[in-house]
Amino acid sequence: MSNACCGGGVPTPLYVFFGSPGSGKGTLSNLCVEKLGWVHLSTGDLCRKHIEEKTQLGQQIDFIIKSGKLVDDSVIIEMIVQWLDQETSHVPGIVLDGVTRTVAQAHGLLTYLRKNRSKFLLHVVMLDVSDDEIIERLSSRQVCSNKECQRIYSLRDESLKSRVVGICDNCGSVLIQRNDDNEETIRNRLDGYKKHTQPLIDFYTHEGVVVEHLNGQDSIEKVFENFIKKVGADSDSYKK
Ligand code: AMP
Repeated sequence: MSNACCGGGVPTPLYVFFGSPGSGKGTLSNLCVEKLGWVHLSTGDLCRKHIEEKTQLGQQIDFIIKSGKLVDDSVIIEMIVQWLDQETSHVPGIVLDGVTRTVAQAHGLLTYLRKNRSKFLLHVVMLDVSDDEIIERLSSRQVCSNKECQRIYSLRDESLKSRVVGICDNCGSVLIQRNDDNEETIRNRLDGYKKHTQPLIDFYTHEGVVVEHLNGQDSIEKVFENFIKKVGADSDSYKK
């Protein structure tokens, strides 16, 4: 069977990032896209795009997202499978950011990946960050209002500030604060994240997938540097 990458018979590495909202998985994913040429799926971004475009799905999930709850598993699994089928041929790597948030989603993803074993090689990585740090980070987070861009900035961290205050470096659109980045909704999202995460870790472990950890408290430059080392080591190990 042909592989999805570059014709060398090596499956495309597919990294699933775990981490609470604000742990830096979105920023790390963006760096993988910009610096490594990988493709990136954020179900959060996809959901917001549907809402912005007022699709039928968008109208269905608008209230759920505003209240910080999770969207139905069947909707998310369909989004992921469709995206993997359509958007990942001839790419050097794939990042799924904030994607498998329930065991049902992880099960849906693993079932798909097992059917497509020769195309994708799964790695699960957890970004570890404390709750206090998350609340501080999210309260000062800004995102690009352009739904095609959605780049993330911070009013607090020098390395994540936009060059011009309130304007996206990437596309020039206005930066906004997401309406779910307020303390009450952040606490709901953290609670939800914890409730759903342990069973997920247990599920992946039970299925024989090793869950690896990266220190997400470090600066984003350091997190990316450590991630690159990991990717190098992973790729050396499956070339052997
Ligand atoms: P995020 O941008 O990843 O923080 O996601 C924002 C919101 O989108 C979440 O609070 C959920 O309402 C929804 N969402 C995104 N990804 C998922 C997912 N994998 N499963 C369920 N809901 C999701």
